[in-house]
Amino acid sequence: MQLSNPSNMKVFYNKQQTVSSFIKNSPSAAKPKLVVQSWKNLGYPVEIMKVRPSSVDELCLAHNPSYVRGILKGQIKNGFDNKNKEIAKSLLWTTGSFVSAATYAYQHRESTFSPTSGFHHAHYDQAAGFCTFSGLTIAAILLNQRFGAKKIGILDLDSHSGDGTDQTLYKTGHENLVAHYSLGYHDVTIYNNEEWLNRLSDLICERFSTCEILFYQAGVDCHIDDPEVDRGQFTTEQIALRDKIVYKTCKELGLPVVTNLAGGYQKPIEKVVELHNLAAIAFNEVN
Ligand SMILES: [Zn+2]
Repeated sequence: MQLSNPSNMKVFYNKQQTVSSFIKNSPSAAKPKLVVQSWKNLGYPVEIMKVRPSSVDELCLAHNPSYVRGILKGQIKNGFDNKNKEIAKSLLWTTGSFVSAATYAYQHRESTFSPTSGFHHAHYDQAAGFCTFSGLTIAAILLNQRFGAKKIGILDLDSHSGDGTDQTLYKTGHENLVAHYSLGYHDVTIYNNEEWLNRLSDLICERFSTCEILFYQAGVDCHIDDPEVDRGQFTTEQIALRDKIVYKTCKELGLPVVTNLAGGYQKPIEKVVELHNLAAIAFNEVN
């Protein structure tokens, strides 16, 4: 099927995705705002799209209802290892951003962006590694329930494994709805990452050609200089190539892509923002 030709980058962003009082303690909480500004500064046409925050019922599609309520009431620790209610409220907006971006991409067959992180380690009833709610699993289930989507791809190129994605899909009986590839499960290091990149286009075709939409976790903690790097260990040039291969291959397959940011922990944060620019550059070069 043909993709709609994007005239601009549709970015689903609302300032309530970030918590101003929290930014002082965690530079990564400021990332969405900085990345959106940086994408605009690149000179590409960026269109800020409306985000509808997720409802409690939507969060419960992928999580235990008492876990969801406990997080929102500040009774259970979120993925940032605290019980801050303001942060918990912002999570309705980060999940909402991804779900809104995925819904638009599915309905209009056009690629979209969600400047969000913190999904793939979230388990059915447990937060971990900066992740509280599984925006990926929630969006997949919603596309299935609302629009009858039958096959959704998740290409997770964060350096770490999408264990929460797998666990929430399994716990809710949706493992057959999603084709999931997570770099974190594969032995990709500085010694064989070039070979892996050479095969990436084939990998996407093999795994996702029958999917109706692809969720792309364009994580940059797989960069060789990242303090949390595990799998990947890519150079800046290799991450640029990675993003270009993803968008080019998906365009050839007619597959709309929903991109989010996932991990990236270098300091100062400008280094991380520059790496996230590579996705915008690749997208605009390909489209
Ligand atoms: Zn990571």
